[in-house]
Amino acid sequence: MFKKVLIANRGEIALRVHRSCQEMGIETVAVHSLADSDAMHVRLADESVCIGPPPAADSYLNTYAILSACQVSSADAVHPGYGFLSENASFAEILEEHGISFIGPTAEHIRLMGDKIAARTTAKDLGIPVVPGSPGALQDIAEARVLAEEIGYPVIVKAAAGGGGRGMQVVQEAGDLEQAFSLARAEAGAAFGDSSVYVEKYLPAPRHIEIQVMGDGRGKVLHLGERDCSIQRRHQKLFEEAPSPALKSGEGTRLGELVAEALGRLCYRGAGTVEFLYQDGEFYFIEMNTRLQVEHPVTEMITGIDLVREQIRVAAGEELSLSQDDVRFKGHAVECRINAEDPDSFAPSPGLVERFHAPGGLGVRVDSGLYSGFRIPPYYDSLIAKLIVYGDDRDHCMLRLKRALSEMVVEGVDTSIPLFQRLLGEDVFLSGGYDIHWLERYLGLKE
Ligand code: ADP
Repeated sequence: MFKKVLIANRGEIALRVHRSCQEMGIETVAVHSLADSDAMHVRLADESVCIGPPPAADSYLNTYAILSACQVSSADAVHPGYGFLSENASFAEILEEHGISFIGPTAEHIRLMGDKIAARTTAKDLGIPVVPGSPGALQDIAEARVLAEEIGYPVIVKAAAGGGGRGMQVVQEAGDLEQAFSLARAEAGAAFGDSSVYVEKYLPAPRHIEIQVMGDGRGKVLHLGERDCSIQRRHQKLFEEAPSPALKSGEGTRLGELVAEALGRLCYRGAGTVEFLYQDGEFYFIEMNTRLQVEHPVTEMITGIDLVREQIRVAAGEELSLSQDDVRFKGHAVECRINAEDPDSFAPSPGLVERFHAPGGLGVRVDSGLYSGFRIPPYYDSLIAKLIVYGDDRDHCMLRLKRALSEMVVEGVDTSIPLFQRLLGEDVFLSGGYDIHWLERYLGLKE
């Protein structure tokens, strides 16, 4: 087993990884930018190394600074968390070349799934249903036109290298395709340095359902059930839960078995999430994330499995600690992403946290690096805390969530807490009967 793990991330996920390491008797090294010298992950880790100035490109995304930090601290493995370098195949390769283990899948699998067009082809070949769409990258607008006609409007133009909901354009009718095509290409080029785009059928009212998997790299892949992430804004998740209130009995299990069997054939290693849209009883693959997800705790709450611990075990060449028959699902869990943002415009709201109080009690988990007096830097993602609540069933969970939100105090910056309080007064939210566009319609952001 590893002796020392360097955590190449910040905020709540750096803390999350640190906690599992400590519980496995592994020492931790935090890395931080100059803007994060006082961050909680730096305070709690056994050691810390400053890796550069505040902008992420110069620090958390600086492969060589992180490699140097591994060398000065003699870390034998790196956990990348999510975001930053977590899906960067070259980073995984460089580490391995230096004898440092990457806690994640092989570079080959990261690369394969990182390109969404290649991922679609792989999924299809593995027998996983995909959204009808173009077989490869679109060469030009003429090809886009032909394919869009074939698929039928509305369609969505998406970046092959996409992530975080960027580089996506919905096209309702043929006349709008050319502009959407150029916009998506430009956005993809600017955001990912790769302007390849493809076109897919746009589903008008689907749910977002994803399957959590964990593989040992030798052909054994467990599925840990589904998560429903249909409460979204600008194609980004805000609230997640498990199990899904929308699936009929057995549907999630059947999909999970299909996905686990397919990824077993690839000998997939570590944590992964296969994302689907679900409409009219059918699942359609959209992408796979080859890393831990923000919303992984809801799965942990209903299975009792520490996903980070399993990731570390398989990266160190050990067996998974359980088999599929040992996986038991119990109760219901939800997660609210607490962002530091303006409640109306959703613009980031960084600054001094004058007072922070985390809720507690049975079934309440808060993953956060916040403390009173912490200054949220303006350089990074606005996620400042995750409130995760477990209940015997969904209704119990929602009542407990209401209670937990009423205890939570974040003063000094605006947050998404009032939005969740408002949602808890809405019948549609409480009944779970929404699709991925419902929140935007509810907020008046969309017709
Ligand atoms: P990203 O990698 O940027 O997160 P995804 O492909 O995972 O992009 O899609 C993110 C979200 O965008 C989905 O959860 C869904 O809300 C919306 N979306 C993506 N593809 C489609 C589609 N074909 N039809 C309708 N909505 C879609």
